[in-house]
Amino acid sequence: MPHSYLVIGGGGFLGRHVIEQIRARKDGSTIAVFDIAEPKEPDTDVTYHTGDLRKYGDVLQAMAGITAVIHTASPPHVNSSNPPRDLYFSINVDGTKNVIKACQEAHVPVLVVTSSGSVISTGEPMVNVDEHTPYPPQAIDVYTESKIECEKVVLAANGIAGVQTCTIRPSAIFGPGDRQLIPGMIEVCQRGQHRFQIGNNTSLMDFTYVGNIAYAHVLAAEKLALSSSSPVGGQAFNLTNGTPVPF
Ligand code: NAD
Repeated sequence: MPHSYLVIGGGGFLGRHVIEQIRARKDGSTIAVFDIAEPKEPDTDVTYHTGDLRKYGDVLQAMAGITAVIHTASPPHVNSSNPPRDLYFSINVDGTKNVIKACQEAHVPVLVVTSSGSVISTGEPMVNVDEHTPYPPQAIDVYTESKIECEKVVLAANGIAGVQTCTIRPSAIFGPGDRQLIPGMIEVCQRGQHRFQIGNNTSLMDFTYVGNIAYAHVLAAEKLALSSSSPVGGQAFNLTNGTPVPF
């Protein structure tokens, strides 16, 4: 069934792949993007809204006529001894609350939000975990703390005012357009830090292809739209690529 999609963060790495996946369905769906950054190379089949998630009016005006929202926006995860806590919480939590409220007000029935696999990480090895795994008492970092809060408000909103919600939890994402993972590894090499090894090379890490993550977002939106009490509603989904690799 065709939808009128709004991809929030649609100018980013994952957001652009979500747009590709919607196009690939060839089901007559329309695509709009909401992003704080102006589009560098706008596509002719996409309607663009430039705005800030922290401004409710910006978010609401982009919802007109939309039937499914896929919200991928977040500040990037930075490894820092002084992480930008206020930035993470104002966008990932308060900004997401604006999205939920705008969906309710504009009668948008479907909301899929990108979370992170890190929300259940304890910092210890995790093998064969599933979605029954609880949030740890202490998040592994401030970015993850904000993603946990984001996930909680999204899942708690399921079924309120006719909006069905779910979250998708990717681990590290790789693929064309990546701005964090491979560029970060290249920086490590450029700084000469590749000569150091911590541990005995048996730690495992899950890396997932961006096209698979984007596909999961579109499938989740389609499933939520099938029924007004979808079994997908109110659920978080861990995404993996299969076998983890040494990291
Ligand atoms: P990205 O930085 O490439 O894209 C994020 C987009 O959000 C950007 O286009 C940015 O302009 C937009 N944005 C940021 N703040 C905004 C605001 N206030 N208002 C409107 N738009 C705003 O990031 P990505 O790698 O595509 O990540 C997408 C999602 O996936 C994020 O939610 C991230 O937390 C999650 N995630 C990413 C990874 C990864 O390895 N990249 C891993 C796990 C989870």
